[in-house]
Amino acid sequence: MAETEILLDGFRKYRERYFAKHPEVYRDLLAQGQSPRFAVVACSDSRVDPAIVLQTEPGDIFAVRNVAALVPPYEQHGQYHGTSAALEFAVTELGVSHVIIIGHAQCGGVANMVHKEEGNQTGGTFLTGWTDLLRAARARALADNPALTGDALLAASERQSVLVSLENLATFPFIGAAVAAGTLHIHGWYLNIFGGTLEIWDPDKGVYEKVS
Ligand SMILES: [Zn+2]
Repeated sequence: MAETEILLDGFRKYRERYFAKHPEVYRDLLAQGQSPRFAVVACSDSRVDPAIVLQTEPGDIFAVRNVAALVPPYEQHGQYHGTSAALEFAVTELGVSHVIIIGHAQCGGVANMVHKEEGNQTGGTFLTGWTDLLRAARARALADNPALTGDALLAASERQSVLVSLENLATFPFIGAAVAAGTLHIHGWYLNIFGGTLEIWDPDKGVYEKVS
């Protein structure tokens, strides 16, 4: 049996559960177009699919996934900015009300940056340049607690990475304008699927708080 058969089985189940039982959902999504309220930036990691973790339905979230759930800084003359293009579309065309950055535990992308910062060899042509955008996250984690190493340093860097992305998000003029107008809210979340926890960044208190 072809290895991809498991995916085709999945499609058949989806077709039965969603399409056959709720054709009206798809009629509406076609007739009215998509109008998701939420744009989510999540990691490409196979374990942290936001639609599964947040139990959303088709049309609910506009998802951008990349290595380390990273928002790069605004660059006016950049040419190939997949994440920036997706955010621009979500905010200026779809008019989402929320942008949510979802970092996660045991993130290979953040680990790549941490390892490189510690002088270890990291491979790839594109990966290291991308995760270099998160160098400040490790530096801030260590500034908070210089004794951090290993998994504790990785976890602290992951939480800080979400904050770096939030800051980068604010450098986009269309985001800043929408936030100032009160039509857009931005959020930083940290997901630990191994502990079954989700933490929400509270910018006023300057701490992550666990969802009960
Ligand atoms: Zn990741």
